Amino acid sequence: MQLSNMYQEVILDHYKTPRGKGLQSPFGGEAHHVNPTCGDEITVRVLLSDDGKFIKKISYDSTGCSISQASASIMFEQVDGKSLDDFNKSSDEFLAMMQSKGNFEPNEDLLGDGISMIGVAQYPARIKCALLSWMAAKDAIIRANGDK
Ligand code: ZN
Repeated sequence: MQLSNMYQEVILDHYKTPRGKGLQSPFGGEAHHVNPTCGDEITVRVLLSDDGKFIKKISYDSTGCSISQASASIMFEQVDGKSLDDFNKSSDEFLAMMQSKGNFEPNEDLLGDGISMIGVAQYPARIKCALLSWMAAKDAIIRANGDK
């Protein structure tokens, strides 16, 4: 994969020093997602606020390739402690970027270090790696909301 050097460094940094890795309790919803084509796996736990509008705590544990691991770390950094509205905006922006084939002006406010993944959008085989943590988080939130 040919990613720009600057972005590659950001991805490698998250891969080598993952933010927020390690499952935490208590939690309201949990989801386990697998990307069989690459062998990536992630479990995401979410604890919502009492009114269901904020992510009080998100935590995860994951194994797999550098893209999937870095993406989970970036996702954590971007959404932990945020409102569900903010989560949905960031998640939608990330999905749109991944489906853009790299032809996209990413919103850094919504994506944070996630903008470093834009080059990955040119590699269809790796898009699922980048999306895995976001999809698992979305599922965990749905399950946490189902408890309300
Ligand atoms: Zn992967």
